[in-house]
Amino acid sequence: MVGNLQQSTIDARGDAAAGSAPVPSARARGRKLSVVVPVYNEERGLEALVCKLVPVLEATGMKWDVVFIDDGSIDRSREVLRRLNASDQRLMAVFLSRNFGKEIAVAAGLAYAGGDAVVIMDADLQHPPETIAKFIAKWVGGYDIVYGQRDDRVADGRFRRLFSRVFYRTFERMSGTTLPHGAGDFRLLDRKAVAAMNRFGERSRFNKGLYAWIGFATIGVDYHVPPRFDGGASRWRPRQLWHFALDGIVSFSTVPLRVWSYVGLLVSMAAFGYLLVFLSRTLIFGTDVPGFPSLLVSVMFFGGVQLISLGVMGEYMGRIYEEAKGRPLFIVADEVGHLHPTTLSNPPSTQSVELE
Ligand code: UDP
Ligand code: MG
Repeated sequence: MVGNLQQSTIDARGDAAAGSAPVPSARARGRKLSVVVPVYNEERGLEALVCKLVPVLEATGMKWDVVFIDDGSIDRSREVLRRLNASDQRLMAVFLSRNFGKEIAVAAGLAYAGGDAVVIMDADLQHPPETIAKFIAKWVGGYDIVYGQRDDRVADGRFRRLFSRVFYRTFERMSGTTLPHGAGDFRLLDRKAVAAMNRFGERSRFNKGLYAWIGFATIGVDYHVPPRFDGGASRWRPRQLWHFALDGIVSFSTVPLRVWSYVGLLVSMAAFGYLLVFLSRTLIFGTDVPGFPSLLVSVMFFGGVQLISLGVMGEYMGRIYEEAKGRPLFIVADEVGHLHPTTLSNPPSTQSVELE
């Protein structure tokens, strides 16, 4: 971890290195770079990705390997990955037993990646491999986490952009964790940061929050997001996105839980005020019976408020239940390449289980 004092020195060194092609310096020489790529039905893009990625990795002058995590693809991605491994041993693959979602696939990748620095990138060429050179320059300059900062989100639809904006604003308000704007999974992590990430056993995972949570000297590097190589749609379904957003907020904030005490307090105070009004009106003007509609409305309103608060508690309880069961984070069906997975250390029951 680097204090503020050292930060400026690092900046200078990082920028100097970023200006030229990254010459392997002390931190990179003889070290290994691993690239983690989650893959879900990407048969058409994998070869194009490798064609672009390999020259970039060769140019770093470091040893390298690529760990593809096949997240239960139902197209020919698996065959393509096996073929790639047959053509180059450094292109390795881990096949998860089903679709676990991108967050878990990335977690699996981090557990399997053996490099001194690990780059996480998408398979759809939306994360330009050339940016890796800039990542390494910063890493060599002393940064432990270098994240890609996209310049705009034109590649996403309008609804998706609006959803992201609302989500990040809410997330920051509620969790008190600031997420760098436009930063995603495309990033480089030093081995120290990877080791820290591998200590998280949580199933409802929100990696972006975890990267911020673990700390370390962090810096962003700009990159431009091209549309998906195939012009196709994002692999995220709207329901998955919604759950992703819920996971993010629920796993980083207890505000939704606590807010109900305040809502309860406000409602009780309002009820008390209403009682006073009602009492004085009866005392002054005598009894009046009407009020059926307001009774119905308030019963429904408070019924609704109670159900919402129960639902919110349910969100948390469901996650406590998920975590308490201690199921493995992911199940590996098969792997190709010389892989040495790190045992996820916390809690012990989160180790991956080999089926074959
Ligand atoms: N992905 C995955 N599991 C999933 C969904 C996506 O491993 O359930 C992978 C996908 O193959 C790609 C990356 O995660 O390499 C990002 O997916 P996508 O491009 O669909 O997301 P977006 O770019 O819209 O964030
Ligand atoms: Mg994409």
